[in-house]
Amino acid sequence: MEETIFACQHEETPAELELAIPAHLLRDDLPLPNPSELEVLRHYTRLSQKNFSIDTNFYPLGSCTMKYNPRIAHEVATLPGFSRLHPATPAVAAQGLLRNLAELQGWLAELTGMAAVSLSPAAGAQGELAGVAMIRAYHQARGDTQRQRMLIPQAAHGTNPASARMAGFTVTELPNLPNGDLDLDALRAALGPDVAGIMLTNPSTLGVFERQIQEVAALVHGAGALLYYDGANLNAILGRVKPGEMGFDVMHLNLHKTFATPHGGGGPGSGAVAAASRLAPYLPVPRVVGEAGSYRWESHAERPESIGQLSAYAGNIGVLLRAHAYVRRLGHAGLRRVSAYAALNANYLMHGLRRQGYTVAFAERRATHEFIISVQDLHKASAVRALDVAKRLLDFGIHAPTIYFPQLVPECLLIEPTETESKASLDRFLEVMAQIRREALEEPELLRNAPHDLPVRRVDETLAARRLQVAE
Ligand SMILES: *Cc1c(COP(=O)(O)O)cnc(C)c1O
Repeated sequence: MEETIFACQHEETPAELELAIPAHLLRDDLPLPNPSELEVLRHYTRLSQKNFSIDTNFYPLGSCTMKYNPRIAHEVATLPGFSRLHPATPAVAAQGLLRNLAELQGWLAELTGMAAVSLSPAAGAQGELAGVAMIRAYHQARGDTQRQRMLIPQAAHGTNPASARMAGFTVTELPNLPNGDLDLDALRAALGPDVAGIMLTNPSTLGVFERQIQEVAALVHGAGALLYYDGANLNAILGRVKPGEMGFDVMHLNLHKTFATPHGGGGPGSGAVAAASRLAPYLPVPRVVGEAGSYRWESHAERPESIGQLSAYAGNIGVLLRAHAYVRRLGHAGLRRVSAYAALNANYLMHGLRRQGYTVAFAERRATHEFIISVQDLHKASAVRALDVAKRLLDFGIHAPTIYFPQLVPECLLIEPTETESKASLDRFLEVMAQIRREALEEPELLRNAPHDLPVRRVDETLAARRLQVAE
């Protein structure tokens, strides 16, 4: 880069420093950039514009809930009184923070219908690990040590079997029926004295609500096993249905999906765990305990049955404060509006796409906060795949939906518009999808070579995952 008047001037290495550095390490050809402040600013501004974000465009990434996160939550979490607090500050000097966390524990317990909450896991997957470890601890405390098997439906998020395995369980996969519900005959056949529990999401990742959930809970409890609820995404049920009342014993919530923390780039998260009273003793430490006006962290000695500590201190405080601000700001009525609009927007898109000729995976079912379409008909007609539709959407400034998940539906796209999108942006998505459908049938090459206008076009997906190269 050229030197400008504001650039730092290169200075000779001082003689005494040269003496301190071994001669073979000294070099005079070090090509350090020497840009001006303006050049640096433009560089990073351009980079940020190449990024795709919810602040600029529609992001209907199913299962991931890329919704708008209100700025007020971020503002509250970054107030100096919170952000400058050292994690080891004595409780007496951190009462404001502890009170907020205690309130959040209480609100999440109320929203989920559970007895107690621990905020410490730092991601959804870590919350799952905590929950299944609690199920293990529960059976072991009762001397019921033969329960080594976890049941998980085919449609589950990949983290579920991974968490179960990490907690030492073997996994038995359960099939779903063609209508999306769980196959109860298969469940009955799988249950036995060696089953520790079942991990379910409801609504499931098929985008439908499990209608037989109370029957499932009765069967599982009847066999002496427990129910784990994957509450990564609560948008469809907020303020309406409580997992505790569906019969679940323990669950996690992704505060970074439902409760106002931006995510997607692997940033900080929170997988708070909530448990019914019989599992509450095993929750990870520390929780905030206390009465009005005086709060503190509990110690491990106070709750020796706990599965232990999962993160440094008490988890990602910034994420927890955002969740607190979000719930406080919306209140019960606001949270119910979240689920109303999440479901309304998903159903609006689902019906719109069906009218255009797209195949909806569970057409006879009402969509929850997300739904699945399959483009297998396009694949048969012109060899266009779900991947090509996803890539073509990028040309229109729309983030691709989740594709090829769940694997049960061939050539599928899992679409989650979220409650924060306007009717105008949903209508634009429908227009674009109608055009893509025409192109798929008339000019399929246009899709197969998409995206056409982005700095990066098709990448080798295997290589991209194995050998990440972020610099140009
Ligand atoms: C995102 C998600 C998870 C995992 O959450 P992380 O914070 O990414 O670990 C688990 N289950 C479901 C259904 C999810 O959508």
